[in-house]
Amino acid sequence: MNVYDSGTILSDLSILGYKLTDNVKKADLVIINTCTIREKAEQKAFSFLGRMADLKNKKPGLMIAIGGCLAQQEAKNILKRVPFVDIVFGTNVLGRLPALIRQAEKTGETAIDVDMSGKSRSALTIHAKKTPITDYVTIMRGCDNYCTYCVVPYVRGRETSRLPEDVVNEIKIRVKKGMKEVTLLGQNVNSYGKKEGLSSFSELLAMANDIEGLQRIRFTTSHPKDLSLNLIHAFRDLEKLCNHIHLPIQSGSNKILKKMNRKYTREAYLEKIGSLRSVKPDIAITTDMIVGFPGEAESEFAETLDLMKTIEFDGLFAFAYSDRQLAPASSFNDKLEEGVKKERLLKLLDLQKEYTRRKNKAFINKIVTVLVEGPSKKNNSDKPNAISQDLQWTGRTPENKIVNFTLDRTDLSCNDHLLGKLINVRIEKALSNSLKGTPVTDIKGEITYAA
Ligand code: SAH
Ligand code: SF4
Repeated sequence: MNVYDSGTILSDLSILGYKLTDNVKKADLVIINTCTIREKAEQKAFSFLGRMADLKNKKPGLMIAIGGCLAQQEAKNILKRVPFVDIVFGTNVLGRLPALIRQAEKTGETAIDVDMSGKSRSALTIHAKKTPITDYVTIMRGCDNYCTYCVVPYVRGRETSRLPEDVVNEIKIRVKKGMKEVTLLGQNVNSYGKKEGLSSFSELLAMANDIEGLQRIRFTTSHPKDLSLNLIHAFRDLEKLCNHIHLPIQSGSNKILKKMNRKYTREAYLEKIGSLRSVKPDIAITTDMIVGFPGEAESEFAETLDLMKTIEFDGLFAFAYSDRQLAPASSFNDKLEEGVKKERLLKLLDLQKEYTRRKNKAFINKIVTVLVEGPSKKNNSDKPNAISQDLQWTGRTPENKIVNFTLDRTDLSCNDHLLGKLINVRIEKALSNSLKGTPVTDIKGEITYAA
């Protein structure tokens, strides 16, 4: 969500004449778009702000803006903690940032706007000339679920859906500017439009599926309690919808799920996985887990491990529970020691490693369709001055597996031509977080494209 928001900020500021720099020391304006979902994210934001204080001392004209969830959460205290910031903007006022910058420039005083009462923008103007091959589009903001560990409803506000025509328009504009794959974003995409009586999420997916030039659709995040049969069927019916779902479960124990206010049981979750697999037997399923929730007994953690063995996820994002002051669980009893949480986290990640390895290995010798996203990052970090014959490229399969492959460096123009194309790649090697392969060529030695 923050990546998407940062993109909109960048687009809005480009009309004021700002350009992106990759060297923070050269910047006239630094915008820190923060996250407070877990303690670690918050610590990172404060430590970056600390570094900015040094920079501001050396370069007094430098403007510093802090936005996102931390700005929203700490609205009242932020100037005590970081008195040198010039602009504080909340999660619902992104569109007003250019005006806040002007205000701070004019008055020389900190401009603050963390108002959450107004409507967030639905229609957007996209000023950027080009968009990435794969990009995000927000379909809704905020959340009404109030999971007891989570700060989102307090810092991002109530759930509001954008109008379907605005979402579709934004995708179309981005497609014209080069996007081939969209990830529709929301905290709970399954409840898209319900409150406002707009189209349902499956209907929105069908509209996106009809957009000419768009090749792939993904979405995140899907809440298990609202995963409908219509959405499950969309995986069968919409050819552009990728063969992957991220369905966070958080815990394998019914007692903990109840304390988390997740509103589904382990059995209901397993049933939904069953339905998904009956429609798409090879669908990739990834999840989020929290270990060490207040009161989590060893036996309840064992239920989580057991669930992992039953489902065999393709991927896992696991987190040690951390208190978020605004969220109710921060005042729950029976908090677990950090050491216990860490131990459980490692155990969980260790178990997942085996499933990831096995799932990745199953791709060896298979031909997969890869959307080419560009040269792999490794090219830049790997001895940049060395003259190599080959260039590593990267893309993803519909299951969201990263595939790296090598192309002959001698024909760079042909390589560039591949950007954003769906090509066939034969997988030769499975690494822990990615696959490696070779593009399939025809008799003339030319790369073959997927239909
Ligand atoms: N809306 C999404 C989750 C967004 S937050 C959903 O409901 O699935 C991303 C992940 O951060 C959550 O799935 C959860 O696993 C983790 N998380 C959120 N709050 C947390 C906390 N207080 N401590 C540890 N992990 C947390
Ligand atoms: Fe947080 Fe729960 Fe909403 Fe996800 S669904 S954002 S975890 S409150």
